[in-house]
Amino acid sequence: MHDFHYVDDELCCEGMPILKIAGEVGTPFYLYSYRTIKNHFKVFDGAFAGISHLVCFSAKSNANIAILKIFIREGSGVDIVSGGELYRALQAGVDPGKVVYSGVGKRADEIEYALKSGILMFNVESPQELEVINDCAGRLGKKAGISLRVNPDVDPRTHRHIATGLRENKFGISIERAREEYHRAEKLPHLDIKGISCHIGSQVTEIAPFTDTIERLKKIIRLLRKDGINIRYLDIGGGLGITYDRETPPHPSEYASAIMKASAGMDCTFIFEPGRVIVGNGGILVTRVLYTKATEDKNFVIVDAGMNDLLRPALYDSYHHIQPVVKREGQEIMADVVGPICESSDYLAKGRMIPRFERGELMAVMSAGAYGFSMSSNYNARPRIPEVLVRNDQFYVIRKREEYADLVRGEEIPNFLMNETVA
Ligand SMILES: *Cc1c(COP(=O)(O)O)cnc(C)c1O
Repeated sequence: MHDFHYVDDELCCEGMPILKIAGEVGTPFYLYSYRTIKNHFKVFDGAFAGISHLVCFSAKSNANIAILKIFIREGSGVDIVSGGELYRALQAGVDPGKVVYSGVGKRADEIEYALKSGILMFNVESPQELEVINDCAGRLGKKAGISLRVNPDVDPRTHRHIATGLRENKFGISIERAREEYHRAEKLPHLDIKGISCHIGSQVTEIAPFTDTIERLKKIIRLLRKDGINIRYLDIGGGLGITYDRETPPHPSEYASAIMKASAGMDCTFIFEPGRVIVGNGGILVTRVLYTKATEDKNFVIVDAGMNDLLRPALYDSYHHIQPVVKREGQEIMADVVGPICESSDYLAKGRMIPRFERGELMAVMSAGAYGFSMSSNYNARPRIPEVLVRNDQFYVIRKREEYADLVRGEEIPNFLMNETVA
C-alpha cells in the first residue's frame, strides 16, 4: 500500500500533484509520502504488539534525519552501522538506549563514540571485535552491552549480493563457534552480554528462512542459558521484502505471527531491524526526460537521474517500475531508460515496455524510498539531489539540492601547485 496515485491522469503523492513539486524544486528529486512511511512503521510495530519488542529502524536504508524522526516519534530505535549513522540518529533525537550497532568493521573511534552515547548494544561480528570493544569500554570506565551476531547458515533466497546469513558471507560468527565465543565474552570484564542477533539478508520474500533461523537460534539460547549466560534480547535483524515488480512477500502480520509462533515461550525481548519494508514503497525518484534516441537495435530514453542518484539497478540489476507523471494516450514502446553517467551500467530500466515518453516529460521511478538516496554519490561531479516529504497537500524539502560549491567543499590545492613551476 502506498500513497502515489493518479488523479485525472496526474500522479499525486497524497494530495499533492507531483508536477507542481517538480516545478518548484526542479528535477531530479526523491519524494516521500509521510502517510505511507508512518503507516508502514505502525503496521510493522503493531504486528508485534503481543510480545515484548523493540523496532530499530535500519538507518542505512534511509538516513535522512526527518525520516528517522518519523519513527523516533513513534517510539522506534535505530539500527546503525557506522559512527556517521549514530550521529544522524542522535541528531534526529533517538533515545540512545534504543540504538543497536551492527557491522563487520567498527573502528575503535566509532565504538568509543557509541559507548559515550550510551547505546543499548553492539552486535559483535568477530572474536577480535569483542576484544576491541572490551578495551574501549575499559578505557572509558564503562560496560559495553553486546550480543553476538550469529551467522545461522540459512539461505534467504534473495539476490546473492544481499544474502548475508550464509556460511560463505563475511557477516557474523558461525553457529558452531558462537557458544565458545560467548564463554570468552563472559570472561571479559567490561562487557555485558545482553543477547544474540542475526540478519540473514535483504529483500527476503518467504517466511521459512526467518523461522529456520529462529529454530537454530533457539537451540543456542537454550544451551547458553544452561551455561548460565542470560540471553535477554533476541535480535532477528531486518530483511523482509517488498513488491517492486511481481514479488509477493508476506505481509508484516504474517511475518509476525510466524515469528511469534516459532519463538513461543522463549522469554526474550525481540528486536527487529526493518529498513526496506518500512520505506521502500514510501518513496519514488522523479526525473525528467532529456532526450529520446532510437538506434538500429534499441530505443533509449535518456533522463536527468543517473546511477549516482539511484544505484540499485546498476549494482543489483534490480527492478523499479517506471510510470509517467502525467498520463496521456498513445502506445507503449520497448526501451531502456538510461542516465547521463559515462558508464554502460547507468540505467534505471532495461528492455521495458513503457509509454512513449517525449523530451521534457516527467517520469516516476517507483519503490525508491529504501537504498535510494542513502546509496547516492557525487560521481561525475553531480550534486546530490533533494529529498522532499509530502504530508497531505503540503511538501517540505528535507534535504536541499547540493550546489557546485558543495562538490569541492573540503578540497584544497597545496601551495606548491599554486606557485612556481613544479619540478
Ligand atoms: C541492512 C540491514 C538491515 C535492514 O535490512 P532491510 O532489508 O532493509 O530490512 C538490518 N540489519 C542489518 C544488520 C543490516 O545490515
